[in-house]
Amino acid sequence: MLEHFFNPSSVAVVGASQKPGKIGYDILNNIVRYGYTGAVYPINPKAQEILGRRAYPDLVSVPSDIDLAVVALPAAAVMGVVEQCGKKKVDSVVIITAGFKEIGPDGARLEKDLATRARELGIRVVGPNCLGIIDTICPLNASFASGMPLDGHIGFFSQSGAICVAILDWALGENVGFSRFVSLGNKMDISEAEMILSMGQDENTRVILGYLESVEDGPLFMKTARQVSKTKPIIVIKSGTTSAGAKAASSHTGALAGSENAYNAAFKQSGIIRAGSMQSLFGYAMAFASQPLPKGPRLAIITNSGGPGILAADASDRSSLHLSPIRKKTADRLREFLPPTASVYNPIDIIGDASHERYEKTLEVVLDDGSIHAVLILLTPTAAVDPAAVAQAIAKLAKDAEKPIVTSFMGEKKVRAARKILQDHSIPSYDYPEDAVAALDAMLSYRLWRERPERQYRNFEADSRRVREIFASVIDQHRHDLIENEAREILRAYGFRLPESRIAGTTREAVKAASEIGYPVVMKIASPDVLHKSDMGGVRVKLENDAAVEEAFFDITSNIQLRQPEARILGVMVQEMVTQGKEVILGITRDMQFGPMVMFGLGGIYVEVLKDVSFRIAPLSVESADAMIREIRSFPLLRGVRGEAPADIEGIRDALVRLSQMAMDFPEIVEADINPLLVCPEGQGVVAVDARITIQE
Ligand code: ADP
Ligand code: MG
Repeated sequence: MLEHFFNPSSVAVVGASQKPGKIGYDILNNIVRYGYTGAVYPINPKAQEILGRRAYPDLVSVPSDIDLAVVALPAAAVMGVVEQCGKKKVDSVVIITAGFKEIGPDGARLEKDLATRARELGIRVVGPNCLGIIDTICPLNASFASGMPLDGHIGFFSQSGAICVAILDWALGENVGFSRFVSLGNKMDISEAEMILSMGQDENTRVILGYLESVEDGPLFMKTARQVSKTKPIIVIKSGTTSAGAKAASSHTGALAGSENAYNAAFKQSGIIRAGSMQSLFGYAMAFASQPLPKGPRLAIITNSGGPGILAADASDRSSLHLSPIRKKTADRLREFLPPTASVYNPIDIIGDASHERYEKTLEVVLDDGSIHAVLILLTPTAAVDPAAVAQAIAKLAKDAEKPIVTSFMGEKKVRAARKILQDHSIPSYDYPEDAVAALDAMLSYRLWRERPERQYRNFEADSRRVREIFASVIDQHRHDLIENEAREILRAYGFRLPESRIAGTTREAVKAASEIGYPVVMKIASPDVLHKSDMGGVRVKLENDAAVEEAFFDITSNIQLRQPEARILGVMVQEMVTQGKEVILGITRDMQFGPMVMFGLGGIYVEVLKDVSFRIAPLSVESADAMIREIRSFPLLRGVRGEAPADIEGIRDALVRLSQMAMDFPEIVEADINPLLVCPEGQGVVAVDARITIQE
């Protein structure tokens, strides 16, 4: 896939220059200098020869086939080059040139025309506005980067050329090798999804690393990542979260959503490891590229000082790893050579006078213990220790180790040489213990992702014809917001349980309805114009008798007449009161990038303040629904505290799946929330007592 980009037999540089310092010179120079063995054709009408290669005035004049063209001409000339590529049957082009979408509407138009023409001619394009591409195995450096990464197993793609330059410099400094290095630029044609797929198929790439500002096609991105991450880790740093999604929202879900949540959910659901900073991107890359995945969560820490050991233990506490209890047999073996003041329990503290021999023996014993899944070695440069010798010892043992080993030699000057030795032997070395733990944690999560069972998708029966009818009538009336009764009908069509309700136009009707439903009841204003009923004094709960109902009827109608005189009042809704229910909120919104997104949170009036909510992109599997319920901080409240009965979690889970199904079935739903869904004790189900739905044609 994309073979001509990464392993071409011949490359033309359109706009090759004779002047060092010009991009057209640098690219040609990089191709030649970093060992490309295929044919190279500089294209420049004013030159006979550049860097020892015969130059041609244009692509068509080149006597042989061209697999890849790299273009470094001004923006206005690029269309002409694409036409030439069509004539010459060049099917792969890297457009380095800037001055397109990134400069504004004019550039965007030019880029669009270019994309259309390239598609017509069957030409694939990387860029424009990019640094170029590198494949270290070919080898081909078709970029204007200053330098060539070592060969290795990390495939890197980036939406920003500057980040490419920074990563390259870091890689050279740290001896980290790459298989491919791709600057995607404006992603006019080839996007991150296709690049992930191509790196997934590249046998030299074991770890895929990416820097993203946006995703072109959300569903395709998720599908591709989900597929590739089953065999190769994909680590992404995502910046530039815009607030475009956070438009004025009429629902709670809309107000809470935002694209940051959508990206997080999408990454989580497709196995992408999200790095929160450049530092962790590097940190994860080192560990994933060089170490085996941990087989389980049990971590052993070896340290020659207390403080760093505790820092690491704290960090592991906050992660999914846990400190392995050291088996008696292992502890006994350690005691044979460790001084009596050492701690043979985790963290294993071999104390301040530890030499490299003591490190080596300890690591040997720890590696031998099958109950330990990962090892973190900490070192503080005390007078007794030779950090470089420790590094050598680790390197020796790490060669055949079947579990991941990571290190943090704290300090700078005294540990510099040791860190270099670790790097040279592909042993991840971190400045701080927390970073080392974070990398192991990411590896463990990834392993769990790979091993998780296939997701289950359920389909509930739904009366979609009824839903379609209601939507049609709403649109007919030029409305977007459904009134309460309509929203209730929609939920009913999707199998939600609703409280029994009647609309009453007079106090007498209200009393009659209440006695039919049975006390206690709830009363609410029935008006298409009142959005948040309680805020207007339009809701009364726990009404126990006829007198209370009569009074509530009067109160509610006069409150609304007073506070919202223009509101049309259809009557007052008398409703069965659900007792013993815990309030949760369920919602759907539509993300520009990823489509329908489902939200879950604990309900009540504080939801927008506490923001204790979780999101997933629809369609929602049963397992994802379950995970999003457990993910919120206040989940223990649902499980029940202080002798409370646990809430019906399964009921919430099914409700989330029903809602996801509804979002998938009806793209016209822009936003919806059920606030609250009342969750009864385990086994007694859930009731949707209030719903808002907004649609758009
Ligand atoms: P709004 O959100 O427009 O103010 P709701 O219908 O959500 O109106 O009612 C407000 C609150 O009243 C709910 O959050 C819930 O606490 C309570 N409530 C409403 N209906 C019921 C019911 N049928 N059973 C129990 N409590 C209810
Ligand atoms: Mg409500």
